[in-house]
Amino acid sequence: MTVPLVVGNWKMNGKLAESVVLAKSIVSRLKTKPANAEIAIAPPFTALAAVRDEVRNSPLKLAAQNCHWEPSGAFTGEVSAPMLSEIGCHFVILGHSERRQIFHEADDMIRKKLIAVTGQNMRAILCVGETLDQRQAGKTIDIVTTQLDNALKGLSKGVIENLAIAYEPVWAIGTGLNANPEQVREVHNCLRIHLQSGFGAASGSVVRLLYGGSVKPEIAASLTKLDEVNGFLVGGASLLAEPFLAIADAFNEN
Ligand code: PEP
Repeated sequence: MTVPLVVGNWKMNGKLAESVVLAKSIVSRLKTKPANAEIAIAPPFTALAAVRDEVRNSPLKLAAQNCHWEPSGAFTGEVSAPMLSEIGCHFVILGHSERRQIFHEADDMIRKKLIAVTGQNMRAILCVGETLDQRQAGKTIDIVTTQLDNALKGLSKGVIENLAIAYEPVWAIGTGLNANPEQVREVHNCLRIHLQSGFGAASGSVVRLLYGGSVKPEIAASLTKLDEVNGFLVGGASLLAEPFLAIADAFNEN
């Protein structure tokens, strides 16, 4: 059975003290009410070490929001996969639409990052998603499968099996708009079939498919009912312990 994965992407929020308080409250809430899902949080780089100390000996896992593909070198301002592994990250989010749009990350960069992350025995969470214009032009499936193909080109089944893929429609991120269950079903089913046909039924079936885009507790339950929703990537609602874990609780009801 697939264990759902729920990841909180804190983005560029949380100075040290706030990050520690938030991590502590998630750990303590998980102690009183364990989740029926694997839970991870992705604080800013500056808070990773302090948050790691808070999550030690708890089921809560540490994630990073990005990394560079080279292990070291003259890349001012960047952080490498070995550095994130050393600090205790289990997951690294890659290809977030904010990285693609604001920092011009291209699919071939994301592909190299995927190799770097899995090479350090961490798991990558690869984000794909269409803009509103692309959806309105009927290009959603084309866009997400192309992003997938470009990022996964030539990768081994071993790498693929260590991935989660987050479908994050760009128009739903931080906007309060959600893809409706029918829209999520269509894209997730298509991603699953695409993975299975590209990498074989076994490898293509173990990849967890997350939905992200203004997920709130109120809408989570309608999405966990879908067969191919295996978790969530949560931005704004992950900045408080209670709504974040209430989203994960939606998986208890299945
Ligand atoms: C995200 O940043 O991945 C995200 C889904 O953000 P939000 O939940 O705030 O839309």
